[in-house]
Amino acid sequence: MNVVVQKYGGSSVADVEKVRKVAERVAAARRDGRRVCVVVSAMGKTTDELLALARRVSESPARRELDMLLTAGERISMALLAMALEDLGVPAVSFTGSQAGILTDEMHASARIVEVRPVRVWEELDRGRVVIVAGFQGVSPRKEVTTLGRGGSDTTAVALAASLGADCEIYSDVDGVYTADPRVVTTPRRLDEISYEEMQELARAGAKVLNAEAVEFAREKGIAIHARATSGSTAETVVRGRTAPGARVAGVTSQKGLALVEVPWGGLGAALRALSRRGATPSDLLAHGGRALAVIPLDNVHEWAAARGELVAAVPDAAVDDRDAGSVSVVGARAGAGMVQEVLDALREVGEEPRALLATSLRVTAYCAAARAPEAVRVLHRRLVEEAPASP
Ligand code: ADP
Ligand code: ASP
Ligand code: MG
Repeated sequence: MNVVVQKYGGSSVADVEKVRKVAERVAAARRDGRRVCVVVSAMGKTTDELLALARRVSESPARRELDMLLTAGERISMALLAMALEDLGVPAVSFTGSQAGILTDEMHASARIVEVRPVRVWEELDRGRVVIVAGFQGVSPRKEVTTLGRGGSDTTAVALAASLGADCEIYSDVDGVYTADPRVVTTPRRLDEISYEEMQELARAGAKVLNAEAVEFAREKGIAIHARATSGSTAETVVRGRTAPGARVAGVTSQKGLALVEVPWGGLGAALRALSRRGATPSDLLAHGGRALAVIPLDNVHEWAAARGELVAAVPDAAVDDRDAGSVSVVGARAGAGMVQEVLDALREVGEEPRALLATSLRVTAYCAAARAPEAVRVLHRRLVEEAPASP
């Protein structure tokens, strides 16, 4: 009997009614003759609420304690889903990341999975039970509870699927990956297929529909990811394979919540050391003409106030822009240097000067005010996708 890993995100288990709906879907997969391992996220906005709760106690909470707090979110949904399945007559058991054998490094708040030992998962699947695993969490060699970074339940699902030799289905409130966030652009196109590389670039540049580390993991293990909607549509996007050469723009995306840290070249090493002590690592690094710019996504940096203070103490010349820094990116084989002018034009049209610009073979990113970025996405999407011939 083949095994499937199905992952349900926060919006899919946002309330009790939705938990029951997910239970019905899981029961149906089991009736189809599949052995099902389910990965769940915390209900709705629970993780944000727990973070806000921590902030009310401390401005720079310790990452270890935050991990203890945040992992509670996924424990709630896993237990509720197990109860809902039992009520449908489906035998089910829930496991924390640690119980499921998700072994990580020690990096609290953005741990990496180093190994999966799903001994108990196999035992329970063999007994005919549905196994529910708390996403986003693992355990370090020192038996510390860790989390994988925001959106990390996707990574749990891919890692488990790789280890179980299972199919990997990721369910959310959209029926796949679109050329832009449907919340930003009214008529984006759904992609039937997207390469690992393109999806990684899109996710890193802010398209949170799939987690970038999850895609990286899938690429390394050769696992296809099926991105689907929990309710309604039967459409999907499959993430697999290499980027086809050619003229396609895979997507346009924006990102907010960045810190742009500019330092004199000679201070770069000291700046990066100060930042990394507080869990802040750059997603992009640009350096030229004696100055360096480090781009720090802040979603997994929970001690930013302390990090910024220590950075300025270590490198007094550092200039930090963390109030409204964001970016807009175009991703795909047609992106890269050929798109630079398009991106500059779009930003100008929305009244914005880029603070920095980066072009690789698959992506152009302009750093700008986060508040203006969605508008620039709409302009670019109209020009590069809506007014361009349909791409495969
Ligand atoms: P979950 O809670 O299930 O993990 P997420 O909120 O992480 O779901 O991801 C789904 C959301 O991703 C959608 O609601 C959508 O607004 C957003 N999104 C951003 N970029 C894209 C894109 N290019 N295609 C589809 N959805 C996108
Ligand atoms: N609950 C976690 C988050 O909100 C993990 C996830 O949803 O994947 O980031
Ligand atoms: Mg997600």
